[in-house]
Amino acid sequence: MKPINQAQVTFMSKSVNESFARGIVAVFLAQADPTLPQLADLKTAVSEAVTNCIVHAYPGALGKVTLKLALYEEGLVKITVSDKGRGIPDVKQAMEPLFTTGNPEERSGLGFSVMQSFMDGVKVTSRPGRGTRVVLTKRLTPRQ
Ligand code: ATP
Ligand code: MG
Repeated sequence: MKPINQAQVTFMSKSVNESFARGIVAVFLAQADPTLPQLADLKTAVSEAVTNCIVHAYPGALGKVTLKLALYEEGLVKITVSDKGRGIPDVKQAMEPLFTTGNPEERSGLGFSVMQSFMDGVKVTSRPGRGTRVVLTKRLTPRQ
């Protein structure tokens, strides 16, 4: 399937870029005329995926995070968030609710659960030492 429109941006894994990523999602998707709740869902899911790259992908270091946005016919949105960080050894386990390798005082292990509840599809592929890719899909149903 060919996208109607597509954009890609790469930024440093700094927490200040969480809001940058949310802003990019809103600006890119404006052309699809989403409802405010739809847009909020997409921004929340992207924010979780980007935060994971910032917090987990490059421990004690900075690296690159790439956000790729694509819009298809019939309001289908596909957003890819990828890094070239340490990767996830067991994706199935990582996606379980409450699983975290982070500081339990700061992290709750619910990022992937949030993505799954706000999106139609969440696909995670990862290679230890090579990086992680999260593909988020959602169909924007037309306004009532
Ligand atoms: P929360 O999102 O609730 O603050 P969390 O980030 O630990 O906590 P999830 O977002 O569900 O929870 O992620 C679960 C685990 O998956 C993380 O603790 C981490 O071990 C691993 N993980 C997720 N994304 C990445 C990534 N991009 N690179 C490396 N590991 C990751
Ligand atoms: Mg998280």
